[in-house]
Amino acid sequence: MTCIVCPNGCRIQVEKKAEGLAITGNQCKRGAAFAEAEITNPTRTVTTTVRTVFPRAPVVPVRTRGEIPKDKIRDLMAFLNTLTVTEPLGIGAAVVKNVLGLGRDVVVTSNVLAEEADESPELAGGVPKSYKS
Ligand code: SF4
Repeated sequence: MTCIVCPNGCRIQVEKKAEGLAITGNQCKRGAAFAEAEITNPTRTVTTTVRTVFPRAPVVPVRTRGEIPKDKIRDLMAFLNTLTVTEPLGIGAAVVKNVLGLGRDVVVTSNVLAEEADESPELAGGVPKSYKS
């Protein structure tokens, strides 16, 4: 596998042995920890976009606050595709909390909606719910 922890991109080999995993090719301990996690419980931070009701910002960038299991990414993307942000949420605001019961929030990573609300005060009140499906 290729380590994605830093830009070096080391090629790491992992072998299962009776005494545990034998990890080679990594240049540092972080690479070994990454390789072990990839074998036992791979996780990722997910970045994507969510639709909004705002014509001048029809989508807003979001990411998971922390990593989620890699095998849940497809479910997460399907769920996020059902959402529409209806409030001018600022950077760091949760679009959805504890998404899919994974213990992670999905948060806005841009101020584009808040800036839109500043320029269009009629949007500042938003809609009571932070999202709708
Ligand atoms: S093993 Fe260490 S040096 Fe190599 S890519 Fe991973 S974090 Fe970077």
